[in-house]
Amino acid sequence: MKILVLNSGSSSEKSCLYELGESLPEHPQAPLWGAQIDWSSDRGPAELAARNCRGSVLKEQLSVESRASAVRRMLATLWESSVKVIEGPAVIDAVGHRVVHGGDYREAVDVTPEVKAEIARLAAFAPLHNSADLEGIEVVEHLLGAVPQTAVFDTSFHRSLSPAASVYPGPYQWLEQGIRRYGFHGISHRYCAERAAQLLNRSLESLQLITCHVGNGCSVTAIRAGQSADTTMGFTPLEGLMMGTRSGSIDPGILIHLLRQGAYTPDALNRVLNLESGLLGVSGVSSDMRKVAAAAERGHSRSKLAIDLFIHRLRSAVGAMLPSLERLDGLVFTAGIGENSPLIRAAVCNAFGFLGLKLDKDQNALRQEDRDIAARDSAVRVLVVHAEEAWAIACECWNAAMARRVTP
Ligand code: ADP
Repeated sequence: MKILVLNSGSSSEKSCLYELGESLPEHPQAPLWGAQIDWSSDRGPAELAARNCRGSVLKEQLSVESRASAVRRMLATLWESSVKVIEGPAVIDAVGHRVVHGGDYREAVDVTPEVKAEIARLAAFAPLHNSADLEGIEVVEHLLGAVPQTAVFDTSFHRSLSPAASVYPGPYQWLEQGIRRYGFHGISHRYCAERAAQLLNRSLESLQLITCHVGNGCSVTAIRAGQSADTTMGFTPLEGLMMGTRSGSIDPGILIHLLRQGAYTPDALNRVLNLESGLLGVSGVSSDMRKVAAAAERGHSRSKLAIDLFIHRLRSAVGAMLPSLERLDGLVFTAGIGENSPLIRAAVCNAFGFLGLKLDKDQNALRQEDRDIAARDSAVRVLVVHAEEAWAIACECWNAAMARRVTP
């Protein structure tokens, strides 16, 4: 079964093609083909990069008349380019989409006109993300006709949050208007919990975990017996941790102050909090942790401050998850920084020595894939898990395809 996965972000569009058989493999498989469009450059063409499982690589500059035409070109490299891996679109059996805001959906659903209407309605809460996701669904409809499509939501995993963890203490009418904590990165947090259970050779139901997705976007989740019990992102992916370009949580009084001064329109506030804050805003150097860390090494004081702040907030968030658990079995790190920065992992773990958590310094320094980096006598296991959101979406699509076989 050939499953295409689309992840339509505001600054990039990523896609993979997987080949899956009659049973789901225990470990993630490498895709047959993967491609990415980077929209982040304001000027000039978008960059398309694609590679296939034979190691062929294609790079192209796309004139961006419309995002949809660029996405169509990206998908067409599957069957007409130097990285082609299939004869034509007809051999694709199913398509899965990462949809950022899924409102009340508790699980992945087949895309129907009603589901599309709901994704469009929820775009009021996540304008950049849900509109791009819907566009991806429509490009696939246009190119691949009636192929089954599944929407996998970043919010679904957090539908298990209790009212105490999901309601904001504003007027009750907010809740009635849908203003509550939804939580995001759910596909990644759920995958990390399942992978942690595999690595520890334990059942998911027996584990109490804290998962830290630390990339450009950052969030931490408390997971009790496989269920999200608390998480740092809320109504939007802006709440919680300091991120690459996002501020994370700040005193809402700052916003009132800035609005009263007349310094910001709603759009300008959106830009400053989502695109000009975080590591980039504080350091003035970059949103990329590697560049900020290198500048801090050279003695750049704002970069050092940015890293200190990043660590302080990440530690605080991990600590804030503890009361939602009965004990801590495992602390899991994933995504670009979580997987690749021994410095950030050590800085977080060192704050939790009082729980009996001890890192194995050598394991922490190693560059390997999924592993346990806690010392043998640590009371808490510490795991590094490679983020596999596309694979997790492909597995949801495979499950949906199997369910369709049973109830056609
Ligand atoms: P996204 O949320 O866009 O998927 P990623 O998970 O790719 O982002 O994470 C990007 C972040 O990971 C960037 O801040 C980048 O600097 C950081 N990163 C990648 N490799 C390393 C590394 N070796 N050391 C520290 N940070 C790294």
